[in-house]
Amino acid sequence: MSLTFHEIARLCEKIEGISSTLEIRDVLGEFLKDIEDDGDLYNTILFLMGDVFPAWDERDLGIGIGLLYEALKFATGLSKEEMERIVKEMGDVGLAVEFIIGKKKQQLLYVEEITLQSLRNRINEISRMTGKKAQINKIRALADIFMSVSPLEARYLARLVLGELRIGVGEGIMRDAIARAFSVSSEQVERAYMLISDLGKVAVIAKNEGNSGLKKVTLTPHIPIRMMLAQMAKSIEEALKDIDMPVVEWKYDGSRVQVHKTGDKLTIYSRRLENVTPSLPEIVEGVNKSVKEDVILDGEVIAIKDGRPMPFQNILRRFRRKYDVREKAEEIPLYVIFFDILYWNGIVLIDLPLKERRKILEKVVKESERVSVATEIMSNEISVIREVYTEALKAGHEGIMMKNPESHYIPGRRGKNWLKLKPTLETLDLVVIGGEWGEGRRARFIGSYELACYDPSTNSFLRIGRVATGFSDEQLEELTGMFKDLIEGEEGKIIHFIPKIVFEVAYEEIQKSPKYESGFALRFPRLVRVRDDKSPEDADTIDRIEQIYESQF
Ligand code: AMP
Repeated sequence: MSLTFHEIARLCEKIEGISSTLEIRDVLGEFLKDIEDDGDLYNTILFLMGDVFPAWDERDLGIGIGLLYEALKFATGLSKEEMERIVKEMGDVGLAVEFIIGKKKQQLLYVEEITLQSLRNRINEISRMTGKKAQINKIRALADIFMSVSPLEARYLARLVLGELRIGVGEGIMRDAIARAFSVSSEQVERAYMLISDLGKVAVIAKNEGNSGLKKVTLTPHIPIRMMLAQMAKSIEEALKDIDMPVVEWKYDGSRVQVHKTGDKLTIYSRRLENVTPSLPEIVEGVNKSVKEDVILDGEVIAIKDGRPMPFQNILRRFRRKYDVREKAEEIPLYVIFFDILYWNGIVLIDLPLKERRKILEKVVKESERVSVATEIMSNEISVIREVYTEALKAGHEGIMMKNPESHYIPGRRGKNWLKLKPTLETLDLVVIGGEWGEGRRARFIGSYELACYDPSTNSFLRIGRVATGFSDEQLEELTGMFKDLIEGEEGKIIHFIPKIVFEVAYEEIQKSPKYESGFALRFPRLVRVRDDKSPEDADTIDRIEQIYESQF
């Protein structure tokens, strides 16, 4: 028997009522264990984590709150204004939709059971809708689903299609639940996940093939792997305590890319594992010229004009560009600098030490106009490292990276094998979850934004303060436009947003504060830039905030 979406909705409701993460893990584990069908298991994993596709999948539902209202209007006859009023009153889209569908349901006699498989088919269909009629077709398709679900299902369906499920199941809990359900090790689940970036697939392997199946999981060209991340070093001296003889490279001021090439096929993934190949034709041509073998390369794309790196925002503009790509390429010329290689002609290299990978990298990549390999020196002399650091800053880059030459490539991990050193007090990347309309001359604009850090253990956002300075008039207008579509509720001048956008914020100090649920507050926060390259889950975590707080003393 195939699972129904109703069973998933009941599970979501149950999980939402549990506060202990261990208990959630156990409840989840029991549920997963009993799923017979592989497809059902896959969909359950993705849906419970609030996703409809894995992060790197190009498909996208393209459903925002406006489209949801239209679909509900179609399904229930209620006006948009009426629905907005209900959402505002209830303070939560899911509960409001549950109420709206509940009212309608009293008039219907028959509720068709939606299976997970049929929901999956419809989601896939919606994601394929493009062109002129896409909007109206999506509204109809979504309305059709809402007409056949129960109120409880409607609550979770609304949150799911908006990318807003958040029932407290983060990657960590899911990983442990999979391990429990199929008696495999959490470490193996984690490792496989980092390599194929799809927990649904990992769960199916765990169920059918156990630990030995998981061990066989390896990276595959054209499926992005999680990128290895760097930890902050306080100083060169401190870094040398962790790495005796580091490889020192510039920390280029650009945006991370992972390039996969096999034969004539080339794919470029962004830091968020999105496929950005069509937006970067000169990089595609450059790599095709410079690299003749099958590879997966890790590097940084930078924009250089008149010999200096252009602000990072320009690169993101290029990454997002879908039309007139060539024109934009002249205005914002991009270059790529590779610093790692993970795969080479069928051989997986991630378990080789960095120094060996570097040798292969230098052999495989022939430098050309758009493509180069990061310059490195190996040294443990403070004066030498400081010189590299000063040079990097002088050239307009961010600082330096110090890497352990003996280290493996550990996907998705922020560890002590890669240390970064930057001059300023580190900025924070925080999720915007609310705001407030301005006053007087600025009443049309959102004048301040409420910020939150991320708690991966519960997949939730914890408030840490608000930012109201650092905006130009032009920026106020641009930001207000950007946030309008994310408004989830309003009470007077206070606005609640769907957490989607990440702000990079500078501040003077982190203080303890009972005022916010994170337990911390920022002194003098100001906006540095919008981090379009980061998703809310990439924001700084509560652990990181605690760590910076401690390091202040
Ligand atoms: P951060 O985003 O501040 O955590 O710093 C890590 C980022 O620095 C990476 O994700 C890369 O995008 C970037 N980066 C620039 N140069 C290098 C380099 N030589 N090695 C590794 N990462 C680099």
